[in-house]
Amino acid sequence: MHDVLIVGAGPVGATLALALAGHDLDVIVVDARARNASLRGDRSLALSHGARLILERVGVWAVLEASEGAVTAIREIDVSQARGFGVTRLYAHEQRLPALGYVVSYLALQSALDAALQRSNVAVRFETSVDSVSGTPHGATVQVHAADASTLQARLVAVADGAGTVVPGIERIRHEYGQVALVAKVWMDSAHRGVAYERFTSEGPVALLPEHDRYGLVWTTTPRRGEALLALDERSFLEALAAHFGMRVRGFARVADRRAFPLVLERAQPTIAARSVVLGNAAQQLHPVAGQGFNLGLRDAWELAQCILDEPRERIGAQAMLAHYAAQRRADRSAGIAFTHGLVRVFGNDIAWMRWPRGLALAALDALPPVKRAFTRAMLFGVH
Ligand SMILES: Cc1cc2nc3c(=O)[nH]c(=O)nc-3n(C[C@H](O)[C@H](O)[C@H](O)COP(=O)(O)OP(=O)(O)OC[C@H]3O[C@@H](n4cnc5c(N)ncnc54)[C@H](O)[C@@H]3O)c2cc1C
Repeated sequence: MHDVLIVGAGPVGATLALALAGHDLDVIVVDARARNASLRGDRSLALSHGARLILERVGVWAVLEASEGAVTAIREIDVSQARGFGVTRLYAHEQRLPALGYVVSYLALQSALDAALQRSNVAVRFETSVDSVSGTPHGATVQVHAADASTLQARLVAVADGAGTVVPGIERIRHEYGQVALVAKVWMDSAHRGVAYERFTSEGPVALLPEHDRYGLVWTTTPRRGEALLALDERSFLEALAAHFGMRVRGFARVADRRAFPLVLERAQPTIAARSVVLGNAAQQLHPVAGQGFNLGLRDAWELAQCILDEPRERIGAQAMLAHYAAQRRADRSAGIAFTHGLVRVFGNDIAWMRWPRGLALAALDALPPVKRAFTRAMLFGVH
């Protein structure tokens, strides 16, 4: 029987595995994908300073940073709202930090994590898909999708497969925002100098994240407008984007890789079952407005590793350990979900009377350093 079996070697599962590596534990990771491959395409991940610290501790940050164009530092964030007053600029130097956050390519992060796993003492089985997980008070059995109907046994199964549906008894509460996120790569006439833009519009928030020699665009809108924007030729799309950003950003030159996906808030309730736990996107999938989802997932991985390492081997996966982990994550998780959902509700609508208090909130953020600092810290480290 393994001590810990991790389903999914995505960023969250791999971080958990690396945090457990080097200790006297039998850890195995299984993933449906092949090594250095992804079941989905690339995407720009927004990492907080806190997430960087976790990746440093598991030994992948330096490798990632050394790889050309894989990491881009965000030095300033310009927050504004369309058709209303109020603008605020958040600066890294005000937080006495080298950067407010980082934009990292999902595939670059994935290959740095794969390489680190290969160097570690953790066993990894790629091209192994899990069908189901069942637990008893004594251990969990994982059913692997294979012709020989093989099974694996572990004291604890940590599910970081981005979905969490393989664990019975965990309900998934889903809220559809009725919106899509249109993502794309956008090149400008001039260099981005590490400035990110977040703009609240009547369609919902739109963000430009500096990445390598371009911007990563996240444009939230209605499904119908999303479809229409995808169908536009390049020039018309860039004109629509310029009109959407108004005077805040100019000089859109080229766009590539446009695609859209529906926005939901989905959370697992509870996050633990007999001898198993769901974490990362398997535990919560958030609206991308504040870039909280991925960072919350990395904190899930780090804190679960600490709970496992604090226990003697025979108590790993026991009900008491899992209840302790769930209780420890409750506040951060609820606050991250509430903060994200609250931002969408306050800033993601076009109710005219809301523009005034929204403008006041943004203006107050700019005028009151302690409030601005608290807001920035919430964006960077989550709400504890
Ligand atoms: C469509 C989409 C677009 C997104 N775009 C952005 C974005 O632009 N910016 C941003 O910051 N965040 C974005 N996110 C969120 C971000 O991708 C997640 O926060 C992050 O990927 C979570 O990491 P994870 O390790 O929990 O899950 P994942 O990255 O989903 O990794 C799950 C891993 O589990 C494996 N797996 C899946 N099923 C099985 C199975 N049955 N058996 C074995 N292995 C399995 C997969 O191969 C994968 O390696 C997006 C999410 C989605 C769904």
